[in-house]
Amino acid sequence: MNCPICDIELKHASIKNVAIDFCDTCQGIWCSKDELEKIAMLGREYIANSLIAKSIIKDLQDTKTQKKSLHLCPNCEASLEKFNYSYDSDIFLETCKICNGIWLDDGELGDIIDYIYSK
Ligand SMILES: [Zn+2]
Ligand SMILES: [Zn+2]
Repeated sequence: MNCPICDIELKHASIKNVAIDFCDTCQGIWCSKDELEKIAMLGREYIANSLIAKSIIKDLQDTKTQKKSLHLCPNCEASLEKFNYSYDSDIFLETCKICNGIWLDDGELGDIIDYIYSK
């Protein structure tokens, strides 16, 4: 599978036995909804200490740059669609309606964890 943004091969990684694919270059993550929930539930502290997550989670103060919304699914090449995580989080992720994969841009995993723990 290739990164929908950089078009280079995604790398396999696992966070506490949850398998994900991630991009070395833009730090994006590709996973299923179930995997995302599992990772998020591990919590920011655990993730901040794990090796790969160091590169995944960036300081939330980082300037957000506007990104293009129409990427293609790395799995089945359908167009990804933006959706509001948990309907009201104002964290916009991209998902594939065909295979239900989820694409997270750099920093969005951290946003979700903060959102879950702030509830
Ligand atoms: Zn990338
Ligand atoms: Zn797909």
